Amino acid sequence: MDISEYLHALLDLFYPRSCLHCKRNLNDSHELYICDDCKRQMPYVDTFHCIRCGAAMGLYSTSVAKEGCAACKGRRLHFDAMTAVAHYDGVMKTLIHKFKYARQKFLFRMLNDIIVTHNKLKDVVPDMDVVVPVPLYWLKKMYRGFNQSELLSLGIHRYFSKPVSANNLCRIKNTESQTHLSKSQRQANIHNAFFVKYPGSFHGKNVLLVDDVLTTGVTASECSKKLKESGARYVHLLVLANAEYSS
Ligand SMILES: [Zn+2]
Ligand SMILES: [Zn+2]
Repeated sequence: MDISEYLHALLDLFYPRSCLHCKRNLNDSHELYICDDCKRQMPYVDTFHCIRCGAAMGLYSTSVAKEGCAACKGRRLHFDAMTAVAHYDGVMKTLIHKFKYARQKFLFRMLNDIIVTHNKLKDVVPDMDVVVPVPLYWLKKMYRGFNQSELLSLGIHRYFSKPVSANNLCRIKNTESQTHLSKSQRQANIHNAFFVKYPGSFHGKNVLLVDDVLTTGVTASECSKKLKESGARYVHLLVLANAEYSS
């Protein structure tokens, strides 16, 4: 045992490590936050999904990009396609909660690894010109200390060498924490919540719009609308966890 191993053993004695999800003791494991069993149960999106909205579909279903599936047909979605890495469930839900609400920013590295190494990304990101995080209202960002979507975007920047535009698409209305509202009320509320400061910079670009959790799709769709109005050619939505269309 070298000195650092002694130190770790000592720290484990006073601050026992346990899995953030199932609370199992991790002192005998090389893992710091999540046990191997929970890692294996990460609810990745691996079934067939509508490429327009991300809804889970039957094995033999086919999705037509323009018309969408039964879940999104007739819905006005302003993004052209979407990719969700995982379902907002189980261990993923725990990780995102701890990361966002308990402000355990150290978990970012883990979530970042999950997103950048996901096999779907290598088919999507190379065709993109710029990465744009879904913005937080400034007061919200100040209170939390970070914008989780911005951190994920910076991770994609580091991994794929794609530029990030984090301050051009702005949120000018605080429309979050509206879980008590119906879908149509949210839709009305989100209207004009976003603003693009320098529209010219998105002109003709393929934009990868990044969000941590997709809840109704309304926010991401409204962001996409603003990007399109600013001349963006194509908007691909990337979400870490899908809460809306998972099944
Ligand atoms: Zn566990
Ligand atoms: Zn769909």
